[in-house]
Amino acid sequence: MTDDIEFVPCHSANYGGMRLASDVRWLVYHYTGNDGDSAANNAAYYARTVVKASAHYFVDDGGVTRSVPDLYVAWAVGGQKWSDCDRTGGGTLYGVVTNANSISIELCDTRRDGALMASEATLENAVELGRMLMRRYGIPIGRVVRHFDVTGKHCPAYFMDDARWAAFKAQLAAPEGAAQARFQTVAEIGARAPWALATVEKLTARGAVNGTGAGLDLSGDMLRTLVIADRAGAFQ
Ligand SMILES: [Zn+2]
Repeated sequence: MTDDIEFVPCHSANYGGMRLASDVRWLVYHYTGNDGDSAANNAAYYARTVVKASAHYFVDDGGVTRSVPDLYVAWAVGGQKWSDCDRTGGGTLYGVVTNANSISIELCDTRRDGALMASEATLENAVELGRMLMRRYGIPIGRVVRHFDVTGKHCPAYFMDDARWAAFKAQLAAPEGAAQARFQTVAEIGARAPWALATVEKLTARGAVNGTGAGLDLSGDMLRTLVIADRAGAFQ
């Protein structure tokens, strides 16, 4: 996916100047805040409309669209700190994470269903893109943040839920090859794939997942499939 990123150049009035690769120290996730949109549509909008705002990438189910090149400054996390930070816990990195030292990724919402939430496929693509950028610029997982952490903006709103955000970051931090990794015990899943724990516990409690004599013997890919089925309501 990330080998094949379409580039739809942002309007030049929407972003800033050049920078060095060594200036890129943080990765910031956002959401577009729309119910039903696509990476291509967002990129096309920022290409033709002067809004004095931008992001480097838009992600949807089909993949990634680049809008601002990495080594240009996108205008994505600037502005005032939100006034409700005392209550929400946002804005803890205000003044630390800036447009100049970060790359911004916008998550689209491909399902128009009355709820603002990125699809599983979009989140998977966002993980793959994030891992690629972390590798390229040497960004550790501790420097992957939400827009919410920077200014307190409710962005992405669904990741203001700390547990949900932690589960997403756990996927980003999972070692390469995790899809092929084998998991033998529930404790192992809790430690290495916490995003799948609730689903596996549900299935083992019902005896639906018993594993082989050696253990559960579930692969990372199988865990992902089970979690998707669970979220779709297959195991109610
Ligand atoms: Zn944002």
